[in-house]
Amino acid sequence: MDAQAVDECSLSSLHKKMKTLKRFVLVGAPASGKGTQSSFLSETYGLKPLSTGALLRAEIAAGSELGLEAKKYMDAAMFVPDEVVNGIVAKWLGENKDCGCLLDGYPRTVAQAETLDANLTAMGLGVDIVVYLNVAAELIEARMLKRKACPACGETTRNGEEICPKCGGAMIVRTDDNPEAFAKRRKDYETLTVPVVEHYRAQGKVVQIDVVEEGEPEDVSARIAAAVRGYCEK
Ligand code: AMP
Repeated sequence: MDAQAVDECSLSSLHKKMKTLKRFVLVGAPASGKGTQSSFLSETYGLKPLSTGALLRAEIAAGSELGLEAKKYMDAAMFVPDEVVNGIVAKWLGENKDCGCLLDGYPRTVAQAETLDANLTAMGLGVDIVVYLNVAAELIEARMLKRKACPACGETTRNGEEICPKCGGAMIVRTDDNPEAFAKRRKDYETLTVPVVEHYRAQGKVVQIDVVEEGEPEDVSARIAAAVRGYCEK
């Protein structure tokens, strides 16, 4: 085989491997840029995203029973109980088992990760890759002050926008983005969610993106794409 044929052959096996990546998990601290990178990953790899936080905020905006229940916890900057969130995600995964999926904000505890693994195994599936956005604490604190969210479509922005760039709705400051609530969410993230990364690292499924300087989201996206590609080349 000549060099070009070898190149084309390894390229096509890389593409095949990338196509087998169907179930992504995105992990990052509050205000780490998960929302932005979730959009990037969904568009790039053809994934249907589920943000449990955005779904719960939409339920609150709709005034549903689930929303009323979740609001009590979210306003207190607490995690919504596992059985509630596990149930929502299991139902959604069952409805979307044939398409590529991206979970953003779930699993948030090792117990949720174990439930997710068991639910996927029961469907003959599994988590294929975990993208871990590891953003320096001082960047996160600075971002939190300018962060807004769209209650209608779940979009989040970083520059204090009044109008949602995605759906044109009115942006709000999230009730759980005040400094005290944010500090609690950060602490829960460190103690309860970072162990989820270790859970999947032990399975060899984690790609880690360290962000230590403020920069363009597109640069982080490019690094994620390179890391996903590297993961498939292993
Ligand atoms: P997020 O938009 O991901 O920052 O989530 C906002 C809030 O929704 C969190 O602070 C929790 O109160 C709740 N929430 C979202 N996802 C989960 C989850 N997987 N487990 C428990 N609570 C969650």
